[in-house]
Amino acid sequence: MAFYISPRVFGRLDGYKIFVDAGHGGDNLGTTGYHGIFAPEDNVFEKEINIEIAWELYYLLVQAGAIVKMSRSSNDQFVANVERGLEANRFNADIFVSIHNNATDEPAVVGTEVLYPPNRAGSERLAIIMSEYLAIKLQTENRGAKLRDNLAVLNSTDMVSVLCECNFLTNPRWEEKMMSFNYQKYAAEGIFLAIRRFLRGG
Ligand SMILES: [Zn+2]
Repeated sequence: MAFYISPRVFGRLDGYKIFVDAGHGGDNLGTTGYHGIFAPEDNVFEKEINIEIAWELYYLLVQAGAIVKMSRSSNDQFVANVERGLEANRFNADIFVSIHNNATDEPAVVGTEVLYPPNRAGSERLAIIMSEYLAIKLQTENRGAKLRDNLAVLNSTDMVSVLCECNFLTNPRWEEKMMSFNYQKYAAEGIFLAIRRFLRGG
Protein backbone atom coordinates (compact mmCIF):
# COMPACT_ATOMS: atom_id res chain seq x y z
CA MET A 1 0.00 0.00 0.00
CA ALA A 2 1.38 3.38 -0.90
CA PHE A 3 0.86 6.47 1.20
CA TYR A 4 0.81 9.29 -1.23
CA ILE A 5 -0.14 12.94 -0.96
CA SER A 6 -1.67 14.02 -4.21
CA PRO A 7 -0.27 17.28 -5.61
CA ARG A 8 -3.89 18.08 -6.42
CA VAL A 9 -4.63 18.26 -2.71
CA PHE A 10 -1.42 19.90 -1.52
CA GLY A 11 -1.19 23.60 -2.26
CA ARG A 12 -4.50 23.95 -4.05
CA LEU A 13 -5.29 27.33 -5.61
CA ASP A 14 -9.07 26.94 -5.73
CA GLY A 15 -10.85 30.22 -6.22
CA TYR A 16 -7.78 32.26 -7.14
CA LYS A 17 -7.93 34.05 -10.48
CA ILE A 18 -4.71 34.26 -12.46
CA PHE A 19 -4.29 36.23 -15.67
CA VAL A 20 -1.54 34.72 -17.86
CA ASP A 21 -0.14 37.05 -20.51
CA ALA A 22 2.05 35.55 -23.23
CA GLY A 23 4.13 38.53 -24.34
CA HIS A 24 3.86 39.85 -27.92
CA GLY A 25 1.93 37.97 -30.65
CA GLY A 26 0.79 38.53 -34.22
CA ASP A 27 2.93 41.18 -35.97
CA ASN A 28 4.56 41.96 -32.65
CA LEU A 29 7.26 39.28 -32.75
CA GLY A 30 9.19 40.26 -29.65
CA THR A 31 12.93 39.83 -29.64
CA THR A 32 14.64 37.48 -32.08
CA GLY A 33 17.16 34.73 -31.45
CA TYR A 34 20.94 34.88 -31.78
CA HIS A 35 21.17 32.55 -34.77
CA GLY A 36 18.68 34.53 -36.82
CA ILE A 37 21.18 37.37 -37.02
CA PHE A 38 23.24 35.17 -39.34
CA ALA A 39 20.54 32.98 -40.87
CA PRO A 40 17.13 34.71 -40.91
CA GLU A 41 15.40 31.51 -42.06
CA ASP A 42 16.42 29.93 -38.73
CA ASN A 43 15.04 32.76 -36.67
CA VAL A 44 13.26 32.07 -33.42
CA PHE A 45 10.79 34.69 -32.29
CA GLU A 46 10.15 35.47 -28.68
CA LYS A 47 6.37 35.38 -29.13
CA GLU A 48 6.59 31.66 -30.01
CA ILE A 49 8.53 30.75 -26.85
CA ASN A 50 6.28 32.89 -24.65
CA ILE A 51 3.05 31.21 -25.76
CA GLU A 52 4.46 27.72 -25.13
CA ILE A 53 5.47 28.66 -21.57
CA ALA A 54 2.08 30.34 -21.06
CA TRP A 55 0.15 27.20 -22.04
CA GLU A 56 2.29 25.03 -19.75
CA LEU A 57 1.60 27.46 -16.92
CA TYR A 58 -2.09 27.48 -17.79
CA TYR A 59 -2.34 23.71 -17.33
CA LEU A 60 -0.40 23.74 -14.04
CA LEU A 61 -2.65 26.46 -12.62
CA VAL A 62 -5.88 24.83 -13.79
CA GLN A 63 -4.78 21.49 -12.31
CA ALA A 64 -4.27 23.28 -8.98
CA GLY A 65 -7.83 24.64 -9.14
CA ALA A 66 -7.13 28.24 -10.20
CA ILE A 67 -9.36 30.10 -12.61
CA VAL A 68 -7.12 31.18 -15.48
CA LYS A 69 -7.52 33.58 -18.36
CA MET A 70 -4.99 33.98 -21.17
CA SER A 71 -4.36 37.28 -22.98
CA ARG A 72 -3.89 35.39 -26.24
CA SER A 73 -4.18 31.73 -27.23
CA SER A 74 -2.16 31.54 -30.45
CA ASN A 75 0.89 32.97 -32.17
CA ASP A 76 -1.09 34.83 -34.81
CA GLN A 77 -3.11 36.84 -32.34
CA PHE A 78 -2.21 40.50 -31.75
CA VAL A 79 -3.36 42.17 -28.52
CA ALA A 80 -2.28 45.69 -27.53
CA ASN A 81 -0.32 45.85 -24.27
CA VAL A 82 -2.73 48.20 -22.48
CA GLU A 83 -5.67 45.99 -23.50
CA ARG A 84 -4.01 43.00 -21.78
CA GLY A 85 -3.93 44.84 -18.47
CA LEU A 86 -7.49 46.13 -18.87
CA GLU A 87 -8.69 42.60 -19.63
CA ALA A 88 -7.04 41.38 -16.42
CA ASN A 89 -8.87 44.14 -14.52
CA ARG A 90 -12.22 43.11 -16.05
CA PHE A 91 -11.43 39.50 -15.11
CA ASN A 92 -10.78 40.72 -11.56
CA ALA A 93 -7.55 38.74 -11.40
CA ASP A 94 -5.65 38.22 -8.16
CA ILE A 95 -2.35 38.04 -10.05
CA PHE A 96 -1.25 39.26 -13.47
CA VAL A 97 1.81 37.49 -14.85
CA SER A 98 3.35 38.46 -18.18
CA ILE A 99 5.75 35.98 -19.78
CA HIS A 100 8.68 37.22 -21.84
CA ASN A 101 12.22 36.35 -22.81
CA ASN A 102 15.01 38.88 -22.84
CA ALA A 103 17.47 40.44 -25.28
CA THR A 104 20.69 42.43 -25.09
CA ASP A 105 23.54 43.43 -27.40
CA GLU A 106 25.95 41.26 -25.44
CA PRO A 107 25.50 37.56 -26.38
CA ALA A 108 27.29 36.32 -23.22
CA VAL A 109 24.64 37.75 -20.89
CA VAL A 110 22.31 35.13 -19.32
CA GLY A 111 19.89 34.92 -16.42
CA THR A 112 16.40 35.48 -15.12
CA GLU A 113 14.88 38.77 -14.07
CA VAL A 114 11.36 39.68 -12.97
CA LEU A 115 10.03 43.21 -13.40
CA TYR A 116 7.32 44.79 -11.25
CA PRO A 117 5.46 48.13 -11.29
CA PRO A 118 5.39 50.76 -8.52
CA ASN A 119 2.41 51.14 -6.19
CA ARG A 120 1.02 47.63 -6.59
CA ALA A 121 1.23 46.01 -3.14
CA GLY A 122 2.74 42.54 -3.20
CA SER A 123 4.25 42.84 -6.67
CA GLU A 124 7.82 43.28 -5.43
CA ARG A 125 7.52 40.26 -3.13
CA LEU A 126 6.12 38.08 -5.93
CA ALA A 127 8.87 39.30 -8.28
CA ILE A 128 11.59 38.39 -5.77
CA ILE A 129 10.10 34.92 -5.22
CA MET A 130 9.58 34.34 -8.94
CA SER A 131 13.12 35.27 -9.97
CA GLU A 132 14.45 32.84 -7.34
CA TYR A 133 12.25 29.95 -8.48
CA LEU A 134 12.91 30.60 -12.18
CA ALA A 135 16.67 30.73 -11.65
CA ILE A 136 16.58 27.46 -9.70
CA LYS A 137 14.30 25.66 -12.18
CA LEU A 138 16.26 26.87 -15.22
CA GLN A 139 19.63 26.51 -13.46
CA THR A 140 20.68 29.98 -14.47
CA GLU A 141 21.79 33.24 -12.90
CA ASN A 142 19.25 35.14 -10.80
CA ARG A 143 19.41 38.78 -11.91
CA GLY A 144 16.68 39.58 -9.40
CA ALA A 145 13.51 41.66 -9.15
CA LYS A 146 13.55 45.06 -10.84
CA LEU A 147 11.20 48.01 -10.41
CA ARG A 148 10.00 49.38 -13.77
CA ASP A 149 7.60 52.31 -14.06
CA ASN A 150 7.47 52.55 -17.86
CA LEU A 151 5.87 49.29 -19.01
CA ALA A 152 2.38 49.82 -20.43
CA VAL A 153 1.34 46.24 -19.81
CA LEU A 154 2.13 46.51 -16.07
CA ASN A 155 0.89 50.08 -15.67
CA SER A 156 -2.60 49.23 -16.92
CA THR A 157 -3.36 46.62 -14.23
CA ASP A 158 -4.75 47.18 -10.75
CA MET A 159 -3.64 43.94 -9.04
CA VAL A 160 -0.37 42.22 -8.06
CA SER A 161 1.56 42.25 -11.33
CA VAL A 162 4.89 40.93 -12.58
CA LEU A 163 6.64 40.50 -15.91
CA CYS A 164 9.18 37.69 -16.06
CA GLU A 165 12.09 37.70 -18.48
CA CYS A 166 12.89 34.00 -18.22
CA ASN A 167 16.26 34.12 -19.98
CA PHE A 168 18.12 35.75 -22.89
CA LEU A 169 17.19 34.72 -26.41
CA THR A 170 20.29 36.61 -27.55
CA ASN A 171 22.53 34.04 -25.86
CA PRO A 172 23.21 31.22 -28.35
CA ARG A 173 23.18 28.44 -25.75
CA TRP A 174 19.91 29.61 -24.21
CA GLU A 175 18.34 30.18 -27.59
CA GLU A 176 18.85 26.46 -28.27
CA LYS A 177 17.43 25.49 -24.90
CA MET A 178 14.38 27.73 -25.22
CA MET A 179 13.19 25.79 -28.23
CA SER A 180 13.01 22.61 -26.16
CA PHE A 181 9.92 21.45 -24.33
CA ASN A 182 11.99 21.01 -21.16
CA TYR A 183 12.95 24.68 -21.03
CA GLN A 184 9.36 25.74 -21.53
CA LYS A 185 8.13 23.27 -18.91
CA TYR A 186 10.75 24.27 -16.32
CA ALA A 187 10.05 27.96 -16.86
CA ALA A 188 6.32 27.34 -16.36
CA GLU A 189 7.03 25.29 -13.21
CA GLY A 190 9.19 28.07 -11.77
CA ILE A 191 6.44 30.64 -12.35
CA PHE A 192 3.78 28.27 -10.96
CA LEU A 193 5.75 27.47 -7.78
CA ALA A 194 6.33 31.18 -7.18
CA ILE A 195 2.61 31.96 -7.53
CA ARG A 196 1.71 29.10 -5.19
CA ARG A 197 4.32 30.17 -2.63
CA PHE A 198 3.06 33.76 -2.82
CA LEU A 199 -0.60 32.81 -2.38
CA ARG A 200 -0.29 29.85 -0.03
CA GLY A 201 3.07 30.34 1.62
CA GLY A 202 3.95 26.72 0.80
ZN1 LIG B 1 9.17 40.48 -24.69
